[in-house]
Amino acid sequence: MDDLNTTIRKLVAANRILAMEGVVDAFGHISVRHPDNPNRYLMSRSRSPELVDASDIMEFDMNSDPIDAKGRQPYLERFIHGAVLHARKDVHSVVHNHSYELIPFGVTQVPLRPIFHSAGRIGAHVPVWDIREKFGDTKMLVENNDHGRDLVATLGSDTVVLMRGHGCAVTAASIEDVVLTSIYLRVNARLQMDAMRMGEVTYLSAGEVALNSQLNKPKVGNARAWEYLCTRARVDA
Ligand SMILES: [Zn+2]
Repeated sequence: MDDLNTTIRKLVAANRILAMEGVVDAFGHISVRHPDNPNRYLMSRSRSPELVDASDIMEFDMNSDPIDAKGRQPYLERFIHGAVLHARKDVHSVVHNHSYELIPFGVTQVPLRPIFHSAGRIGAHVPVWDIREKFGDTKMLVENNDHGRDLVATLGSDTVVLMRGHGCAVTAASIEDVVLTSIYLRVNARLQMDAMRMGEVTYLSAGEVALNSQLNKPKVGNARAWEYLCTRARVDA
């Protein structure tokens, strides 16, 4: 387990990496469970991820209330993170983003499925959450804990949940994992659309997904990818 300073350093790096890799733009965010208190989490103040530094990192409880805001404005959609981290003890880091490539899979009946080995980590089943089913017309944003809990009910025990007409939430056991899964989720969506235009698609089988999830998750694999991603984003690994 990383200590607090290392966790904050990695969280800042993850913000820069997600921006560098095009997963987030002005919007989107990443959280991590507090290393010393499992009922708290850490996330930037409301700021574009590319610009985040350590002084922006705030602490929240599981209701997504800030512990000591010091005048800093939190993200409006922080309830995604609190709801997931409260319900899923196996999850330690969460990404919310609005990747354009994902949108078609949230508004059609075509399931997003792993199409290449690196994307096995997104899981065999990617559910779609529609905020309108329970809440009617809204601004489409997860702006309270009722919205967050309903999103988590659709996520269930899966890794990724798409949000109809909005984006996604990605979960993982570590910052490194959630960054890699967010990157390959977006690539998978692009490749799946390309392949579907060409004809019938052969997806990874459930067994291949399970084996690739194990293959991609060991620390050594992540360390190699993390060093690469930090170098590209010009941050310390
Ligand atoms: Zn959003």
